[in-house]
Amino acid sequence: MNPTIINGTEISRIIREEIATEVAVLKSDHNLIPGLAVVLVGDDPASAVYVRNKGRACEEVGIYSETINLPSTTTQSELLNKISDLNQDPRFHGVLVQLPLPTHISQRSIILSLDPKKDVDGLHPINVGRLVEGNPNFIPCTPAGIQQLLMRSGQDPAGKHLVVCGRSDIVGKPIAIMMMQKQEGANATVTICHTGTKNLGDITRSADILVAAIGRPRSITADMVTDGVVVIDVGINRVEDSSRRSGYRLVGDVDFEEVSKKSMAITPVPGGVGPMTIAMLLTNTVKAARLTLETSN
Ligand code: NAP
Repeated sequence: MNPTIINGTEISRIIREEIATEVAVLKSDHNLIPGLAVVLVGDDPASAVYVRNKGRACEEVGIYSETINLPSTTTQSELLNKISDLNQDPRFHGVLVQLPLPTHISQRSIILSLDPKKDVDGLHPINVGRLVEGNPNFIPCTPAGIQQLLMRSGQDPAGKHLVVCGRSDIVGKPIAIMMMQKQEGANATVTICHTGTKNLGDITRSADILVAAIGRPRSITADMVTDGVVVIDVGINRVEDSSRRSGYRLVGDVDFEEVSKKSMAITPVPGGVGPMTIAMLLTNTVKAARLTLETSN
């Protein structure tokens, strides 16, 4: 089978162009510049790269952004105070705290302290509840990106058996909840798998659409899928590669080389889900800005 490669780089470029247009209209018609504050605690190099990319992406579409770098010794109450300031600051319509946080800070307390109207990562329980209701304000960025990838590549999930491998709060749970809604871009029959799942292969082989969000390199192998499957690979894993100057390369949770031979369509890693996550953060920030117009009228 000659699969369609679902090109997240290209689809995210189109979305970022759409966002830039929307930002320009907000500026010209409402004198409103969407703003995003990103808080980074500590010096984890991967988090620093993600945060830098987010800032750059904001700049490109005309969103005002600031990164607040805090040392790894920051206490929970210092971080809570900072978030309280950002919640009040009218320049910022979105506030994002880069995860993971240092272990001495409770992630849950920090998420609870965010103003739900500024929670552009969609992790506050109010936003999670709204997602479950089918009436979201902010859809978590990676699942929102997956939905856009499916719809914009002509792979409508309606009526399909969609199997999600992984049940994390940021990917597995929200994508499963979104895909089961009786709504456009969803209406799938959803199965969720995890480490407690017995006979994983029997379930993945029954998938029309398979979403892999496991966090282990090349865990989904060719014997686990059926011909004609659509595969969304969320995984980003570093594996050693002595031929690269960095000494590593990125691979997904799916054995792309073998699984792609049986797939109707598949996302690559990198260049699939990854670029979509940032595009959706921009979308959510613009939405947060627009919401302030609705509430001020
Ligand atoms: P996570 O929090 O580590 O969750 C992994 C999930 O996979 C857990 O629910 C776990 O089950 C399940 N799992 C692990 N091994 C499994 C197996 N062999 N079979 C079935 N299920 C299995 O990971 P995450 O945050 O969701 O991230 C998943 C991957 O996506 C990672 O590679 C991450 O780097 C990547 N990611 C990419 C983006 C992006 O923008 N592209 C964004 C977020 C994450 P249990 O619950 O039973 O432990």
